This record gives sequence, C-alpha cells and structure tokens, in this order.
Amino acid sequence: MPNSPDASGDTVNRLGLALIGAAMAAGATAPALAAELTKAQEAEAIRFAINNDIFTLQHEIGHLLVGEFKLPVLGREEDAADSFASVSLLERQTDEADQVLIDSADGWDLSDAASDNPAYEDADFYDEHSLDIQRAYQTVCFMVGAAPDIFGEVADAYGIDADRQESCGDDYTQAATSWNGLLAPHLRAGGKGASITVRYEPADKHHAEAAKWLKEAKIIETAASWVEATYALPRDLTFTAKLCDEENAFYSYDERGITFCYEMTQFLYDLDKQDLLHPAAN
Ligand SMILES: [Zn+2]
Repeated sequence: MPNSPDASGDTVNRLGLALIGAAMAAGATAPALAAELTKAQEAEAIRFAINNDIFTLQHEIGHLLVGEFKLPVLGREEDAADSFASVSLLERQTDEADQVLIDSADGWDLSDAASDNPAYEDADFYDEHSLDIQRAYQTVCFMVGAAPDIFGEVADAYGIDADRQESCGDDYTQAATSWNGLLAPHLRAGGKGASITVRYEPADKHHAEAAKWLKEAKIIETAASWVEATYALPRDLTFTAKLCDEENAFYSYDERGITFCYEMTQFLYDLDKQDLLHPAAN
C-alpha cells in the first residue's frame, strides 16, 4: 500500500550487519593493523556517513511523496524509493550530489563485501529491499545512464559491461520520466504548500558524535526545505532525528513524517572506518 507506514524501515540487510560485525570482531584482534583513523581519514569517514545519510533521506522522501500524494507504484516500492533518490540527486548536476551517489553505491557495496564468503539466507531474498549489492549496481546504473561522461569510469570500476552501461540509459530515462510525470501535478511552483518541522531528540553517549555530525551538516533541514519548496504538501509534516535501537530510517504516514536514526549515521561511519583501517578485508 503506498500510504502504509514503512514499518520495517530501511535497515541495511541483516546479512550485511552480521558480516560487518564479524569483520569488526576480526579486525579488533588483528595485529599490526592501525586501530585508529588519522584526522584526515576521520573526516573522510564522517563525510561518507553524511553522504549516505543524504541518499537515505532522499529515499525516504520518495516514500513520503508516494504516501502524501497517493502515487501509484508499479513494482516494489523500495526499488522505486531508490530510483527517486538517484533521479532527484542526478537532476541536481552538482559535484556534491554526484559524490553522494558514489558514496551511497560504495556504502551498499561495502556492506555486501564485508565478507569474502557471503552466505545469503532466504530472508535476504524475500526482504522488501533488493540485496545491498543489487542496490549498489542499480545506483551506478542510473548514474552512468544519466551521465556516461561523468560516471563511465565508476561503472567500469564496478565491472558493469558496455552493453549494460548503454541500456542503463533507458533505465534512467524511464525512472526520471515516470517520477517527473507523476509528480508534475504536485509541484509547488510558488503556490501554497504545507511545512515541515525538524526535531532532534537527545542522543546517548554512544551516539553523541553521530548526532553532532548530523546536526552540524544540517542535511535534515536542507532536505526538509527542499521538499517544502518543491512540492505542494497537503499537510504539515515532521522530520525527526532520534535514537531508535536500530540502524534505520523510515517514513510513516500515520506519524506524519520521516524518522532518521542516529544509529544509521554511526553504522555508516563504522562501515567506512573499517574499510579505511582494513581495506584488504573488502
Ligand atoms: Zn524504504
């Protein structure tokens, strides 16, 4: 149902979490490896986490637009929300948005590749979301489909062959045309629209830094302002950053908005940290 709450949210799949947990445990005992990031690496890991958060917010905004405007969804809504995130970021045509897309594809690739010997379970295949590795490839496919001159090298690095890179152009055109067509009647275009309030709930000591990075980056405020200015929302909404006890973000129609969990930011930071400290593991 388009307007039902995204109850299960958008956790990185369980396989990814388990493998990363194992990789972290292994890394913690491995000798002769750096245990801490340099200042420059830490800044990179924070940027990586925030950029992945930006993509996740756009994904949730995709769910929000489906729910608030009662849009039809052909196919899986999770894939549609990913395509909204990719299309909306690609349409910006900025270096910042391009880097968000590169980091997001890498985020799924890293979570999938945290083990050299992945063992998928049935639950991964019946999950609402595509596999992390599929989400990585599909994001890169949209990227190279939209702008082969800019993202051809990225697609090559992912090993996407020339034929598929070319057909990704059709994937992108279809996704962009579908979203833009469905959303055209709901553009604000200087007219009336409801507003979005941004709230931050307290973090615990384990997520105080993640909460600080999120607040300082102002990405939730930026996303909220963009939605407000772009679409004629039918009712006021709230974007809330909080502790959730899981790495998650979700849109809920009944709760009138998007919840973004501090744990998500922490998870992505840790993911990149492990990659920076132990790149051979990936
Ligand atoms: Zn989702």
